[in-house]
Amino acid sequence: MASLSLRGIHKVYPGDVTAVNDFNLEIEDKEFVVLVGPSGCGKSTTLRMVAGLEEITKGELYIDGKLVNNIPPKDRDIAMVFQSYALYPHMTVYNNMAFGLKLRKMPKAEIDRRVREAAQILGIEALLNRKPAALSGGQRQRVALGRAIVREPKVFLMDEPLSNLDAKLRVQMRTEITKLHKRLQTTFIYVTHDQMEAMTMGTRIVLMKDGVMQQNDTPQNLFDHPANLFVATFIGTTQMNIIKVKLVPREGKMYAEFENNSIRVPDAIVKRMKSDRYIGKEVYLGIRPENMHDEEEFIAASPDSLIDVSVEIVELMGSETYLHLQTSGKDDNVVARVDPRSPARAGDKIPVALDANRLHFFDVETEKTILNRV
Ligand code: ADP
Repeated sequence: MASLSLRGIHKVYPGDVTAVNDFNLEIEDKEFVVLVGPSGCGKSTTLRMVAGLEEITKGELYIDGKLVNNIPPKDRDIAMVFQSYALYPHMTVYNNMAFGLKLRKMPKAEIDRRVREAAQILGIEALLNRKPAALSGGQRQRVALGRAIVREPKVFLMDEPLSNLDAKLRVQMRTEITKLHKRLQTTFIYVTHDQMEAMTMGTRIVLMKDGVMQQNDTPQNLFDHPANLFVATFIGTTQMNIIKVKLVPREGKMYAEFENNSIRVPDAIVKRMKSDRYIGKEVYLGIRPENMHDEEEFIAASPDSLIDVSVEIVELMGSETYLHLQTSGKDDNVVARVDPRSPARAGDKIPVALDANRLHFFDVETEKTILNRV
């Protein structure tokens, strides 16, 4: 069990590559923090600095209030699980899990207790005498987790541990790791490039881009209150639609206008705008595909937030349908996630209604949200 504090952490690799830039993060005991972001954004580097596998160029790392910048990995009481599992091929599952403890000269009986308990937690008791070559990908992943569990570390670090598994197994292991976290009651720091993994597993998510933290928040807040355009479009199974609009006030009401379309911005959202200086100016409007509707009732009830579109492609996914739409005039493409019973067909010209209470707005220069949270 441990809390961590990363203060002003920088990593500059030889050749002047800044991989992590002024990273600040407080992690409380027992949290499940996910570092997420596109490839190359500095997630692994951050994790490796916590593990002690990578030197910290500048800044301070505290574990349980103790400065550990110069403490070697083996003395940090941390266990790391890698994407590549890194199992010893010539050893049985039992010995793979026991090896690190033997090196520490732990009494045999205690090693045996820990290995069997970890095997039981992970459901691999029947595999203890096998060698890694005789295991499936999912089983190997469990052994790698087991090897970390037996050390009873203060902090678990996981670097893309599910990347080598097929899609179905990945979803299954996702829940297993979440359960493991609940059972072990230990601090987890988990790295992934997959926003879905981050959203489903993390109690807190840190989204990074180009070595810089973009937002540090709960999954729900990241989804509902993205701090900027990057967060808005990275989080969500289907990407948020972004349209450049002009905010036009008329008769005490506010409208977001583009091409021939005018969408009434609800007063509650206008009140949340950080500044009056956006009035009369161009901003980015964001709307998630699931907040665009083609059902008759919704359209009838939303005369102030209709836009005219032509349907370009209809993607049937089974439980939902994606409509790829082109707005009138210019070439703004948007996607709507609608009911699979939608009658829309390619070539149709239809109105769609935006759920105006779910609008997001961003500054066109800074790309930051212009809305305060409620
Ligand atoms: P991520 O885990 O998000 O994919 P990394 O932390 O692996 O990103 O890498 C961040 C940046 O640092 C990338 O630009 C990468 O090319 C660079 N980088 C990573 N490791 C090294 C290294 N050993 N030497 C030089 N540059 C590196």
